[in-house]
Formats: sequence, C-alpha cells, structure tokens
Amino acid sequence: MNKKMKFPPELIGAIRDGNTELLSALLKTGDGIIRQLDESEDRQWREALNLSIRLGNEDGMDTLLQGVKFDFRQIHEALLVAVDTNQPRVVKRLLDRLDQEKGNKMDVRSFSQAIFDHSIDNSQFAPGVTPLTLACQKDLYDIVSMLTQKGHGIPWPHKMSCACLECRNGRQYDLLKFSLSRINTYRGIASRAYLSITSDDAMLSAFSLSRELCKLSQKEPEFKPEYLSLEQLCQEFAVELLGMCRNQSEVTTILNSSGDENRDCSDEQAFEEGIPNLSRVRLAVKYNQKQFVAHPICQQVLSSIWCGNLSGWRGSRTIWKLFVALGIFLTMPFLCLIYWIAPKSKVGKILKIPVIKFLLHSASYLWFLIVLLGESITMEMYRDNFASREQNILQSSLHMVWVAGFFWFECKEVWIEGLRSYFLDWWNFLDMMVLSMYLASFSLRVLIMLKAHFLCQDQNNTEGCVYFTQTVRDDWHQEDPQLVAEVLFAVTSMFSFTRLAYILPAHESLGTLQISIGKMIDDMMRFMFILMIIGTAFLCGINNVYVPYVISPQLGRFNETFRFLFWTMFGVVNENYVDMPQFVFAEFIGRVLYGIYTLVIVIVLLNMLIAMITNSFQKIEDDADVEWKFARSKLYLTYFREGLTMPVPFNIIPSPKMCDCVKTIITAVSDTKYASCSLYYLSNIKQTDDNQLSYRRQVIGALVQRYIESARREFEEAKRKGNADTDTTQSDKIFQCPMSKQTFANITGL
Ligand SMILES: [Zn+2]
Repeated sequence: MNKKMKFPPELIGAIRDGNTELLSALLKTGDGIIRQLDESEDRQWREALNLSIRLGNEDGMDTLLQGVKFDFRQIHEALLVAVDTNQPRVVKRLLDRLDQEKGNKMDVRSFSQAIFDHSIDNSQFAPGVTPLTLACQKDLYDIVSMLTQKGHGIPWPHKMSCACLECRNGRQYDLLKFSLSRINTYRGIASRAYLSITSDDAMLSAFSLSRELCKLSQKEPEFKPEYLSLEQLCQEFAVELLGMCRNQSEVTTILNSSGDENRDCSDEQAFEEGIPNLSRVRLAVKYNQKQFVAHPICQQVLSSIWCGNLSGWRGSRTIWKLFVALGIFLTMPFLCLIYWIAPKSKVGKILKIPVIKFLLHSASYLWFLIVLLGESITMEMYRDNFASREQNILQSSLHMVWVAGFFWFECKEVWIEGLRSYFLDWWNFLDMMVLSMYLASFSLRVLIMLKAHFLCQDQNNTEGCVYFTQTVRDDWHQEDPQLVAEVLFAVTSMFSFTRLAYILPAHESLGTLQISIGKMIDDMMRFMFILMIIGTAFLCGINNVYVPYVISPQLGRFNETFRFLFWTMFGVVNENYVDMPQFVFAEFIGRVLYGIYTLVIVIVLLNMLIAMITNSFQKIEDDADVEWKFARSKLYLTYFREGLTMPVPFNIIPSPKMCDCVKTIITAVSDTKYASCSLYYLSNIKQTDDNQLSYRRQVIGALVQRYIESARREFEEAKRKGNADTDTTQSDKIFQCPMSKQTFANITGL
C-alpha cells in the first residue's frame, strides 16, 4: 500500500460541515498509520489544517494531526493561524505536537529562517512573522506568556549597518524580505504585550525602545511612518503604565529610579537636601518623552518640589507673586549676604527652595541687563571721551563683574554635569559664545592700555606712543583693536538679552510663544537656504547684464545689485534702476529678469515662508499644553540641582561652604581612617539599596499586572459589545475566512 496520501477533494467539505466521521474515513485513521504527504499537494493540506483551526473545529484538527504527518513548516503556519484567531488551547496543542516532532529540543530560531525560503507562497503571513511576533502585534497576553515560557523569544535585530555574515546574506538573498522581517520584528518588540511580559522594567524598556525607533526612522526613511507609529505606541505605553500608579509611595519609587543602580547612587549627590533625584523623569526629558513628563502625576511631583515648603505659593494670586518677585529683586544683595554668612539659617534654607532660587537668579540677570543699559547711557553722556583714546576703562566695565560671575557659574556647571551633558543643551553654546565675546572685547581694551603704557616708556618709539594715546578716530587703522572691541561689545550686548528666553517657560503663554518662535527660526533656516540659492542666481544674472554698461548708475556692481535686489523683497526700491533707454535689448532682458525675480521672491517664496511659519505655529498651538509643560519641567529640573544657589556675581566670593569642602577633601586624602569609615558607610548604603531595588521591582510588577488586567477587561468589554452588535451576522462571519478565492478554487479543484 502506498503510504503517501493523496489529497481527497471531499476533505474541505467535511471540515466545513464539522463531520468528523467522514473525515476519519477519508484519512483512514482507523489503522493507526500516520501517512506521508505528497510534496505537490502541500498547499492543499495546509489550507485544510488552517481551515479547521480557523473554524474552531478542534476535533477536525485532531483527526488531521493524527492521520497525516505534517512537517515543521506546515505546523508553523497552523500555529500562526491559531495565534491569529486567538485560540490559546489550540496553540498549546500545536506546540506540544512540535515538541514531539523534534524531541524536546525544538529549535525556536528556525522560525526566523523563513527569509531563505524562495518559493512563491500563498501564505497570508508576511516573511519573518513568528507565532510570538504575531501574538505580540495582536497584544494576546495569554499566548505571549505561553510562548515565552516555552522558550520562544524575539531576537533583537542587528544594527542597520551591521556587516555580519547573517545580515550580509539576508540582504543579498532578498532585500525586501530582509527589511520586512526587520520591521515585523520591531512590531513585535514594541508591542505592549511583549514589553510588559518579558522585561524587568517595562517602562524603561519602552523609553529606550522609543528612542531607538526614533533613530531608526531617520536611518531607514523608507519605513519612517511605520517606525514613528511604533515609537508613538511605546510612548503611550509608558504613559499608561504611569497612570496605573495608585499612591504617592508608588509614584516616588517609580520616578526616582532609572534602573541603573550605580548611576542612581552617583546622581544622588548632585541634588539638594530633601529633593529626590527624579532620575526617571530626567531620563524621560533626555529621551524626549513629552507625554510622560507632561502627565499630571509627573507634573504634580515636579510642582510640589518646585515650591518646597512654601505650600501657599502655588495657590496664591499673580499680584502677590509679582510683589514677592519685586521684593527679591530689590533686596537681592542683602539676601545673598545672609546666605553667605549663614547658609543653614532659616533664610538660607528658604533661598534654597527652587522657586526662590529661580527668582534670585532671574533678579541677578535683570540687574546685569540694567547695568548694560546704564553703561550705554554713560557712554552717550561722555561721548567725546569714548570717541577718543581717553576713555576710562572703569567707566564701562562694571558688567565685567557679572561676566566673571557667569564664567565661574559655567565652570561649576561643567564640573557638576560633565562636559558631555553640558554641551547637549544648545543654550550653553550661546552662553559660551557670549562670554568669550565679552572677554575678548575686554581684553582688547586692556591690551590698548598696556600697549600705550609700554610704548610710552620706550623713548625710541614715540610714534607708537602717540598713536595709542593721542590720535583721533579718523587716523586709526581699520583693524584697530579699539574698533574691534567696540563692535564686539555692541553685538554681545544684544545677544545678552536673548538669554532672558531662559526665564520665559515659567509662564504659560509666554513659554508657548517662545517655543513657537524657536520652531519658526528653525523653519527660517531651511527657507534661507533656498532663498540664498535663488537670490545668488538672480544676482549673477542681473549683474552680468549690466556689467558692460558703465552708464548704468546703480547696477553692474555686486554690492549695488545685491542691495537693490534685497530691498526689492520689501518693496522699498525704485524699480526704474533697471531702465537703460539707449540699449533696448539689454534693457529688455534686464527688465524680464527683474520681473521674474520679483514674482518668484515676493509671490512664491515669501508666501511659502508665511505658510511654513503658520503651519509650525499651529502645530505647537495644538499641542501647547504638553509642549509648555515639557519646557517648564526642563527649567524646573535645572533648579533642583545642588549648589549654584548663590546668584551671579556673588558666586565669585569664596563661601565658607567651599572652604569646608576643600577641608574635607584634604582630610580625605591625608586620613586613611576615612577610607574604612566610608567603606562601612557604602556597605550600609548597599543594603538599603537592595531593599529599595526589590520594592521597586514589586511596584513595577504591580503596575504591569494592573495594566494587563485592565487591557483584558477592555478586550472582553469590546468583545461583548461586538457580539451584541453582530450576533445575527455571526454565522456568516465564520465563513468569511481570509482565504483568497484563488486558493479556495485550488483546493476544491474548481
Ligand atoms: Zn548582523
């Protein structure tokens, strides 16, 4: 008897009717022989098995499995169907069957080998889809946990640029399948079910995954929308997990641990007494998790720390807040004196509260700007002095006290934060630039003074002495240090005002406006690039038309032409400049070019700019609340750090606290006893850390559990509602299996 089984055409009908007896008879299961399949009828057998699973006909499936020997790939596909239709029991049975088939050593990795399969396949599942990734994509928590317990896992995809043998082969063999399997794998990894079941700290995994997906969307722009939607999913998941917190202690535990215990420990020192380290919030800020940071739970914690003991501050009226701010502005020097003498006193402690610290620093900055304005007015009053070499360096250098303070402040900031995270903030670049320009301007002026002094000492060099002491401005060289210093100072004093933008996020509408302006400047940059190309093209063209005609008074020189074209954008030039009645042809071409230029610039480009700006303004406005809260949280976090309490310029005065610090370091170096003492201290810390760690794990576990429960409830609710709606059409729906008509025709032999 031939052991290979021919595919009986009645089989499909028997499965569809649920007629198990007919099925047994067709497969001849009575004699207990498991029959081999014919290779050419592989697809039909697969569809028969899949159909029985899809219809929920478990007896039929059992009979099929008993009567016929299915191979690994066929069962794999059946498993996918079972996962797709969410039947945990069937999945379990098929998994057991696979175990039998391969002995207990089932090779889970072979699921992902589908990439090297070149046959034209009518399978409804994309390449690289494994039962686990499919279950993850559909958020089937039961099946995911069953599969992971069986040892299934999703191998992390290699880097985009990976050049290992596996990736190289995959790329060469089938690029499309390679990319699709990558994106499918990420779909699995980024799913809520996979994150919550497989990772120790689901929230943290969601953070880092969201960052990775964001990077991938830039590296692989072909799949940008897919990656971005997955990234959004991760962000939402983290936010929903946070929303599962039920009391303050859970919130505190979650927000104050970043998962990396060593870093938690070292970061602890950088914070003020009584202020938790909030490492998870800072991580969220770093990873740009705007929704997470703007979540009410997060915001509440931040605001309560911001106001510290001043519980009345949050509810008080704006007038009162302004009054307090004015008071701090006026009494700043005295407050600083008190803090300098007694940092641990009551006033000192109040000054350490972040909101007061913020007001103090803002007041100091305002004083700096007032000094700058005052210096400008003094210069105007003694204009004759400032125009000559006789200016007094002290009259216009009061602002250097602040600059020295800012410089010291930045140095301390680098010391506390580390160079890398210091330069992550773009504002710090501006600070560096402004400070170095102030220093350059000041040192140039000192240079002139010193040079005059030394040259006049030297009897032989009377010429140099006269140049640096008595000459009038008209006789100075173009590159005279004083001219450079003056220009530098003028530009820098303008830049100094931009730093006020640092304060604005504290206020809701001002902060939102500021974010919009930032985005608009970003748009402007891109616009400028296009404008530059088009502008240069027309500048060349129009200039070259007029170059040979020396009679043209305005055009024909780059400088003049540029000025003419620039002001055309704003409609403030005389358009008769292009006229040249003696030379008709050149005049005609000049007019045409100028006309096109006006059309392109004024109608197309300027309107495009306006559209771009409106668009980004609208985007920010739509999300104003989240954007503002995110910006404000960044501001808050910078004021939670320890140190830097004393505002500029008082921070240059060495404080008793700093002397203490130096003393401790010296004793630490000289005293060996300290080492053993600190060792004891460290082991103590470690013990409490272990306790904290286990508590943290418990909290995270509880959050995930609550999340899964609520997801399950929602799922059942939706199912119940769906059932109520479609009860009548249920019987039709079962037969609407996603099998295509083509395959159906194949099976039935029509
Ligand atoms: Zn690789």
